[in-house]
Amino acid sequence: MTSGDDTILVKRAMACWENGRIGKSSDGLVEARSIRDEALRTGDLRALAEANRCIGWFCLQLGYCDEGLAAAHEARNFYAGRDDHWRHALSLAVYSWLLAEAGLSDLAFESASEAAVIAARTDDKALNAFAMNCKAVALVICHEMTLALSVLDDAMALAAQSGDGSTVALTHINQGYAKLFLSEQLAGTDREAADKLLCAAAAASHKGADAARAIGDLWNLRVALANAAEMYAACGELTLSQVCIEEYETLVTELGPRERVHYLCSKSDIHAHMGDYHKVMELMLEAREVVFTVANHDGKINTLKRLADVSAKTGSYEDAYNYHRAYHDAVMADHGETSRRRAHALDRQLENDKLRERAAALEIQAGEDGLTGIPNRRAFDQAFAGLAHREGVVGILDIDYFKQVNDSYSHLVGDKVLIRIANILHRFDPSLRAFRFGGEEFGLVFDRLGLEHAEPICQRLVDTIRTTSFADLAPGLSVTVSIGLAHSGVLSGSPLLAEADRRLYVAKKMGRDRVIADGRSSITVAAE
Ligand code: GH3
Ligand code: MG
Ligand code: MG
Repeated sequence: MTSGDDTILVKRAMACWENGRIGKSSDGLVEARSIRDEALRTGDLRALAEANRCIGWFCLQLGYCDEGLAAAHEARNFYAGRDDHWRHALSLAVYSWLLAEAGLSDLAFESASEAAVIAARTDDKALNAFAMNCKAVALVICHEMTLALSVLDDAMALAAQSGDGSTVALTHINQGYAKLFLSEQLAGTDREAADKLLCAAAAASHKGADAARAIGDLWNLRVALANAAEMYAACGELTLSQVCIEEYETLVTELGPRERVHYLCSKSDIHAHMGDYHKVMELMLEAREVVFTVANHDGKINTLKRLADVSAKTGSYEDAYNYHRAYHDAVMADHGETSRRRAHALDRQLENDKLRERAAALEIQAGEDGLTGIPNRRAFDQAFAGLAHREGVVGILDIDYFKQVNDSYSHLVGDKVLIRIANILHRFDPSLRAFRFGGEEFGLVFDRLGLEHAEPICQRLVDTIRTTSFADLAPGLSVTVSIGLAHSGVLSGSPLLAEADRRLYVAKKMGRDRVIADGRSSITVAAE
């Protein structure tokens, strides 16, 4: 989803995102990091956010959870408060998935829910389905399988309507995943239902593989095939399991550590079911080499568990004991890691709150008019709202024949006139608050005062501007203004402002360079 005002670097990042679909996460990560460096060098903040989201996604695929979390969080922060709902939702979704991967299921669920709410502001069905998938992943990790499956049903309906094959594949894969976990939950109490669910899980993964294969989405295809192989093996369908792993092996690409371990575990499960423990040992020793090169506790736990089991099966009880201990240590370390990641995530959240405070301060600054530095229309609206509860006078001041100033002397001179008028207004009288509406119009507010006070001040203002020298800006230049004033006695809100505007119009009609504070003057004009 690119738009016309995207920079070349943003477009490069959007193209880079596609690496995630074709299974080239390693290449994608290299490219995304290079886009990030370039964006930092050129100050292209949008490209920086896009690159960060790509980094988050590729790190998720490769198993580099910490780098991914930090990058995705940056992307999510950039889009927070901006109107780009599509990119905001996608960044949040990626961030939430990484949180789930890191075991922070509650934070993951929060982010995924926010992603779903923001995605709903777009009419992109695939994006909505993707956000729902993230929500489901968080629910699975919270062991809320039934809820997860119901979210995934909704996601599937949207994904199918969107026609986006990758999202359809992903949803099938997650349905398989949720059914597998549900089957594990039921295994102790209802063996029959558990077996049925296991077969359904394998079938869902198989469908995921079909959908991914149809559109050349190699990332989802590999995940689906490895899952299906594992699930078919678990329900005794060894031939189907073998077919899946063989197809996986034909998809020759360099695998990231996360995928490599996933593949080795799936393959070893087939051999375990065939009773070929020697092969299982060989595969798991290879997996152990891979997982110890990266901080991937999930992979470590799965590998050590299988090593302990296979050692026991082959009668190597001492090895089994040692692997069990290592497995136990890895589980404990995983808890430690989760706590550390939680602390980091909350730290970033705190940083976020500080950023919000800064944004609030900026918003006060945003109450200033960029050209003249006096309060702007937004500040006027706030001041004007106060007149609903108490007495006051509101005025609109408009520079006379300002278009001619621009036409005769240039816009640059016109701007300088605006700045000078604003300065005069701003410092003219302590009871007068002036705001620039935009263009050559200014709003005036006299709080807690009546027309008998405001009108003479405005008359003096008109006289002062008429006699102020503008000749230093352009030879022969002089400026006058017209003002319409209205008292908040009877009217309030927009009718009050409309009355001031009508009196300004009367001032213009009556020859400009004057104040009109009298409602009856409008009758004169209306009769014209
Ligand atoms: P009148 O006395 O009836 O108000 O005539 P006018 O020419 O002042 O009114 P009009 O609304 O036709 O023209 C206002 C002009 O103000 C038109 C626009 O080019 C100019 N203008 C609006 N914003 C700016 C600005 O920020 N800088 C400059 N230089 N000109 C501006
Ligand atoms: Mg005007
Ligand atoms: Mg004007």
